[in-house]
Amino acid sequence: MNSKPRGRQFFFNPGPTHIPDRVLDAMHRPTIDFLSDEFKVVLADTHASLKRALKTQQHVLLHAANGHGAWEAALCNVFREGDKLLMLESGYFSFHWTKMAKDLGLEVELLAADWRTGVSPDRFAERLAQDTAHEIKGVLLVHNETATGHVQPLPKIRAAIDDAKHPAMLLVDTISSFGSMEFDFDKCGVDVAVGGSQKGLMMVAGMSFSGISERAMAASREHHMKRNYFDWQQMLLVEPQRFPGTSPVHLIYGLHEALKIIEEESLDAVIARHGRLAGAVRAVVEHWGGGETNRSVMINDDGVSGPITQIQLMMHEAERHSDSVTAILVPDGHDSNAMRKIAVSRYNLSLGQGLGPLAGKAFRIGHLGDLNEPMLLGALATTEMALKASGIPYHTGGINAAIDALSD
Ligand code: PLP
Repeated sequence: MNSKPRGRQFFFNPGPTHIPDRVLDAMHRPTIDFLSDEFKVVLADTHASLKRALKTQQHVLLHAANGHGAWEAALCNVFREGDKLLMLESGYFSFHWTKMAKDLGLEVELLAADWRTGVSPDRFAERLAQDTAHEIKGVLLVHNETATGHVQPLPKIRAAIDDAKHPAMLLVDTISSFGSMEFDFDKCGVDVAVGGSQKGLMMVAGMSFSGISERAMAASREHHMKRNYFDWQQMLLVEPQRFPGTSPVHLIYGLHEALKIIEEESLDAVIARHGRLAGAVRAVVEHWGGGETNRSVMINDDGVSGPITQIQLMMHEAERHSDSVTAILVPDGHDSNAMRKIAVSRYNLSLGQGLGPLAGKAFRIGHLGDLNEPMLLGALATTEMALKASGIPYHTGGINAAIDALSD
């Protein structure tokens, strides 16, 4: 007897995400010459559409690499070995980009923060004001920290850099916010934005891109670290082919279709839909926990500072809530991974795990990409079943809170 759960898997990890059939179909085609006129048109169109989505008149380069590749490209093109960077701590991914920068020979100061609140813009401004010698060459942040469901207040960070008249480059990881949440590259004065294909862009993993300001592009011409494959200047030289080596034709066809889907709905409508669905997720989690939260409990890389007594949202403040992923803490004495295992093995619902010190203590619901109300309601109701089956205490009837939130 086949014990595999029936039906299509409900995939609610915060990336990769559901891939629309239209995107899968666009990739299902015979090989064509990547130097053909036919493909050049598709590539140019994809590039133009990505620039519109990023809201930039400046540079955008595509990489046949996952987000880690674009992370590395950003660092090795803009900085010199030994440069000092300031990273705003937000969780697992802020740590990993920091580690990569250190491994490449950069010096990184982590502006430490409780992961439930994040670095305040005032504290960031204070730190910049201390740097009168302008030793800090770059400010790095993860716009949407996928591990905690935390959004950085990007306009406030930009304003603090401007107020301090500080020349540091602003590098932003938009991997889990791009195509789901407001992001305006030019308006926000971003120097490098790093994005990936497998989240709001509803594509397979394996592609990433860099939004690059004129200033960052000039820096990469004038000075840089050792680099070869990720040399932006070399990439510009191979225009309009855009890729060093063979172009990933099928990935581009998929990306082209995904961007078309976003433009048909309109980026504004996509962002509004993500906001609406995210509000429903938060309403359900608050219902499950009875609206209580252990506010004095802090969380960082060292772990959780005190008891978690009921289900609750990871993030405290509404303005820091992500519209693409929600991290949910489970009460002490319960294992979020055991619950996730039940969800996938019995009900075919895949949820995200808690990362780093949150392993077993939290789970994540990804609510980004190709998603609508019935899919989300199904996933939330099924999560409630998995809570019940795993013995995690919760207030029943969370789905009604979601229905109310979605009907507002
Ligand atoms: N940054 C963030 C915020 C992410 O969520 C991820 C992956 O989930 C990455 C970076 C790394 O991207 P990739 O797995 O495509 O290398």
